[in-house]
Formats: sequence, C-alpha cells, structure tokens
Amino acid sequence: MKAPVNKIIPFSNVDGPGNRTSIFFQGCSFKCWYCHNPETIHRCNHCGDCVAGCPVHALSIVDGKVVWDKQKCVQCDLCIHTCKMMASPKIEELEVEELIARILPMKPFIRGITVSGGECMLHAKYLEELFRKVKKLGLTCLIDSNGSIDFSRYISLMELCDGVMLDVKAYDPDFHLALCDHSNDRVIKNLHYLLETNKLQEVRTVILPKYPQENLDTVSHVAQIIQDRCDYKLLRYRPFGVREDALDKMGREIADEEECEILKKKAIELGAIHTIII
Ligand code: SF4
Ligand code: SF4
Repeated sequence: MKAPVNKIIPFSNVDGPGNRTSIFFQGCSFKCWYCHNPETIHRCNHCGDCVAGCPVHALSIVDGKVVWDKQKCVQCDLCIHTCKMMASPKIEELEVEELIARILPMKPFIRGITVSGGECMLHAKYLEELFRKVKKLGLTCLIDSNGSIDFSRYISLMELCDGVMLDVKAYDPDFHLALCDHSNDRVIKNLHYLLETNKLQEVRTVILPKYPQENLDTVSHVAQIIQDRCDYKLLRYRPFGVREDALDKMGREIADEEECEILKKKAIELGAIHTIII
C-alpha cells in the first residue's frame, strides 16, 4: 500500500508531546482561506507548468508525468510558487515499509510520530498499517486532523492511535463553510466522539484578525464542550504562506494579542483550563 508524502520533518516539538517525527501527507478535503501550506491541498495534474522554471533542472516530464529528482533539488520552492493547482511536484509515493525506513534513523531521539497533511485521514487504511508497525518500535502515534473524516469508522486505527489533535476552525456552520469550503458537521461529531473515547489530545482554533464575533463563538462553544479534558490551543493567525487571493479576506496582520488574551480568559472561565495561546 502506498500513500503520497509531501514532506517528513525529522524532529518537531510543536506536533504533540516530546520530540516527534512529523509526516505530511498530500491531499486535503478542505480548502481553508488561511492555509499555510496550500501546496498540500491537491494532487499534481502533471500540467508541466513548473518544470521549465526549476533552476537546477530537478524537474522533467517522462511519459506525460512530471518527475522530481530529489538529489538535484535545492528546495527553493519556485515550483510551488508557480503552481496554480495548489499542488507540488515534490511528492513521494511511499510504501509503509519505505516510510518506516525513513523513521528508523530518528527512533533513538523521538517519542513518536505525528501524521499530518493535507488531511492524513484520507489515508486511514495506510495509517493503520503504519501505526501497527510504528507501535512495535515502541513509539507513540498521533493524528493531526481537520476532522472531516469519520473517526468512528476506523476502530482498529483508533485503537492504535495515542491521540488526535483536532482543528475546530469555526463552530458556526455557515462560517465554517465559507472559511473551509466544507461543512463542519463531521468535525463537531468527531469532537464529541474523540472525547467519549478518550482520544482527544488537543483542539486547535486559529484566531482570525477580522472576525472577532466568530472567534468568540467558536472559542466559547469549544471550551464548554471540552472543559478540562484536553488541551486547547488558540493559534494566532499569521499571514505567512497564505495564498494571495485569500489575504484580502483574512488580512495581512497577525491576530491581535489582546483579543487572544481575552479569548483565552473566556475559555478558562468556561472550564477549558488547559488553554494556551500559540
Ligand atoms: S506541481 Fe502544479 S504546476 Fe507543477 S506539474 Fe503539477 S500541477 Fe502543474
Ligand atoms: S524546489 Fe526543487 S524542484 Fe522545485 S523549483 Fe526548486 S529546485 Fe526545482
């Protein structure tokens, strides 16, 4: 079984507890305005537009498909900036065993792995096989998810999973639809399911500069639901990496620090005592 891997960060201390290897899968079910890595959203359609601009000729077309030469690539990201598809030519289709071989050199230095994206749950069956093998190495396995896929359909995966870091981008269904191009119905169901099954590691909400009412609505609802049962991270919106057409809606400023402090206080008052601002 193969899955498309966008990148592997060998050591990360922002993707769950301890030092972790983070694996980013290609492809997403959402299309959020503020996405910081929009090149993970779609799969490459092999149009070839990015090939000629590569300064070190790391891209070529073979049999109608764009081929990436990892050894030649200098990671300038020119190809990603050229791509209008919100895709990347720098994707590796890896078997589970190949991915395990990439993780093994880090094993003595990490507590576990975190799978992310894109939306890693689009590859749930692959994750089950991956987690089964990673757990045998004595490492923990966390899922970082936008909550669009029904976790309750993947009982075996959830038994292997040590925790989920769930995005609740907006509580109001209409605002979520506008923000992410997708309903939040499943996200909220997953929030309750993960709490009930004791698998919720943390919830994250991005605090947006232009939407104080929506921020307050989301934080208040999430805080009342999670109480003290998991961490709640309020992520200050930062415009870095956001695609140009989304910046008008989102703004070019970092979310206001004072507003974030007020929201944090509100969340704690409502019972989410493990709330922090990132
Ligand atoms: S990465 Fe984008 S620009 Fe490059 S070939 Fe694929 S779809 Fe075309
Ligand atoms: S990131 Fe790599 S493949 Fe893309 S343009 Fe730069 S050198 Fe070429």
